[in-house]
Parts: sequence; C-alpha cells; structure tokens
Amino acid sequence: MKTTSLLPFFLAVTAGPNLAPACLTEIERHGGHILTSLHKRQDSPPLSNDNTVPIGTGDRFNNGTLFPRGIGSRPYAQTQGQNLTGITQLETVYNVAEIKSALLGLQREYSSQVIYFELPHKTYQNATMFGAKVRSKIPKGQQSSNKGYRVLLEAAIHARERGGPDYTINFVSDLLYADKHSLPNITYGGVSYPLSQVRTALSLGIVIIPLVNPDGVSYDHSTNSCWRKNRNPLSSTPSEPYSIGIDLNRNFAPVWNFTNDLAPLDLPPASFDPSSETFAGTAPLSEPETKNIDWAMASFPDLTWFLDLHSMATLVLYGWGHDSNQVTDPQMNLLNPIYDHKRGIIPDQLISPSWGYKEYIPQAEWDASILAAGHVASRMTDSTGRTYVAIQATSLYPTSGNSVDHGKWRKIAAKSKRSINGLAVEFGVANGEAECMFYPTAGMHRLNMIEVGVGLMELLGAAGRL
Ligand SMILES: [Zn+2]
Repeated sequence: MKTTSLLPFFLAVTAGPNLAPACLTEIERHGGHILTSLHKRQDSPPLSNDNTVPIGTGDRFNNGTLFPRGIGSRPYAQTQGQNLTGITQLETVYNVAEIKSALLGLQREYSSQVIYFELPHKTYQNATMFGAKVRSKIPKGQQSSNKGYRVLLEAAIHARERGGPDYTINFVSDLLYADKHSLPNITYGGVSYPLSQVRTALSLGIVIIPLVNPDGVSYDHSTNSCWRKNRNPLSSTPSEPYSIGIDLNRNFAPVWNFTNDLAPLDLPPASFDPSSETFAGTAPLSEPETKNIDWAMASFPDLTWFLDLHSMATLVLYGWGHDSNQVTDPQMNLLNPIYDHKRGIIPDQLISPSWGYKEYIPQAEWDASILAAGHVASRMTDSTGRTYVAIQATSLYPTSGNSVDHGKWRKIAAKSKRSINGLAVEFGVANGEAECMFYPTAGMHRLNMIEVGVGLMELLGAAGRL
C-alpha cells in the first residue's frame, strides 16, 4: 500500500483540535511541577484525592482465589438475566497488591490459557515486576515457552496515570470470560465484538505487563502526590523531593542522549536534571523497569505490536517520536552519527529550505502504524462519543527515550531480526475538580475503561490483519 493512498485517511485522523497536555503539563515541560507544595510536604499526610475514584483497600481478589471480570461481558448478561461470576468493582482503582492478585486469579480460573510470570530485574525498592501470558490454549508441556505471543500491552509506566492497570486486566478478563462461557459477544459502550472476533484476538497471544512502575505507583497511591517517575534516589539531592526518580518513558534507548542525538531545541524532549519530571536517568535503560520491558521485547520472539497506556489526552500516538518520518533513505536513521545534532527540527525548513532530517521507517511499518492508530482512535470514539484522534507522536511534542519507539530501535540496532510496531493510547481527559488532574473521577474511570477496552480490541484486530 502506498502512502499516497492513505493520505485522505491520514488527514482525517490528524485533523483534530484536541491537543490536551497528555502525560506532561505545560508547566512540567518547562521544568516546573504542578504540586509545588510537595517540596514542603514530603513527610506530611497524603494530599487530597477528593473528587477522584479512590484506591482500593485490602484485596478484592483474595490473593488470587477470586478472579476479575471486565465490563464488556455485562451488557449481554443483563439482557439474559444471567448471574456472572468473577469480580467487577469499578468503585475503586486496583491497589498494587490487587494488580498481582488479579493476575494470579486469572491464572487459577483459566489455567490452560493464562500463565503468570515474573521479570528478572528488581526495582530500586526491591519490587518484583510481573506479567501474564494469555492465549487461546497453551499446548501441554509448553507453559514455559515464550513463542506464539504477538502483542505486548503495558500500563502504569507513569505512576499518576491511574486506571491503566485496571483497564488492561479487565480487558483480557473479558476475552477469557467470553471465550470460556461462549458469550455471543462483548460490548463496550456503543461497540460490540462477536465471539468469533474474541477468539481470534486470543489466538494472537497477548502478553500483559500492567504495572511497569510499581515503586512509583505505590508512592503515588500512598501520598496522592501526582507522582510520575520511579523512586530511584541515586541521582537525588537531599531536601529536594522532586529530584528522586527517573522518567521511565525517557529512559529507553532511541535518541536517549538527546543533547547529542538531536539539534538544540527550544524545549528539549527530556532533561538530565534529576529534579525534572522528564529526567532521563544516567544511561539508556539504566532503570530496572525499562530493562524489564527490553527483556520482554527480546524474550517473546514473535511480538509484532506493542501498546503503552497513558493518560490523559484522548489521543492515539505512533512513532517516531523525535522527528517526522521518511521511507526512502535507510541510512538517514537515529544511529547514524553524521546526523547527530541535526535531528528533531520540525518543520525541516528551519534547517534549510532544501534539506532536513527525517527518521527512516519502512513503508509497510508506517502504513501499518497509521492504519492501526486510526482504527483504534475511531472505534474508541464510537464507543462513548468522546473524540479520539490518531497522530504521529512527534506532532504532540518531540520525545526521546520513549517506549513506543524502542521496539523499532531494537531492529535498527540489530538487537532483533524483527521490528515491533508501537502505539501509545492517551486515555481520558483532565479531571479539573481534582488536585491531581491525572486522577479520574468515578465517571471518568468508567468511560476510560470502556474506551480502552475498544482500543485494545482494535489493536488486536489490526495485529491480526497487518
Ligand atoms: Zn504517561
């Protein structure tokens, strides 16, 4: 498929007015912080979480003896007067213990389809990261095999973006429940998927890592401090609470060293100041959390798609994140040193009317990214009526070291024979009633869950087709 044939569609999906702050507010992009009171309040009681959906207390899955079920199966059951099993509670957000307990519950309920696993690198606070492998049926004796998984879903890399783990887990719960009980469909708001499509999605093999930043999320839940980064203090200054932590979504490898890899930009994509919300860390993949995602990309040999859940901008983003794309010159790529200090300027006319850097992407990968992102955005819009827009990530603001581009970087850096296409979904909108605008209200939490269910289903659909 030629790019030209996609142009009308591309324009349609990029012509949205809705460029909300996404993961980073304007104040934070300029080096500030939205809750400046944290400087004085590190050891104070938790900040307010009024007007937000609260964090769950205890363990609704009772250490994996009960299992979650999403909201996609509920509409059918209601029309049939059926009592469904499994826990569906939308009134609170899953706490850290519950996220693990939910995966153990899924493994227990769907033992031939779900395998809980742990990742090798422990966090600074010694937490073990974990995930689940999910598919139609795991062949006997192949529980330990990582072959046959096409799609990797992750959430909560930014601690304060509450809800991502819940939506990821509840979505796969819906697939598994509908498959086991042969529900005729699953339904998210205005969008339904027949059982045949559910089973096709499961047949692709799905890996979920729903809690990429466990230390940050634990801290955020206990303090309501709108915490974004991890909690590694090794670069921090005592008495400077914001100097703790690395922005994990600036710590991946692609153009990590932005002061060398990119041209000087008025507003750099990241920072080497530990007090910044976009502190990139001390080296690419310096953090155990990003090492674990890199490990997952290396360890599941059949992955072709990756999706990272963020909030809040009602956007679907595809790569590259640091410059516009081109398909004709593979040598014009992010590892070629002759282009150091030249990348990242958009539009290119600012360098020279006749020359500019654009990042190489194979035509088929670019086409697939545009098509997948467009389907995800348009069907998320159909589910609730809130408008989602698909754009290239660099149109929002240039980023370095981001997760979405890491799977493509691995191929160019010859760490892999295949490229992993990436998308980021920025679900939901700002909660203007809350001290931290990233914490959804109960109503927003429900809308986000519906929309993300559709977004993940559309990604799986695209992964099967493209
Ligand atoms: Zn984010």
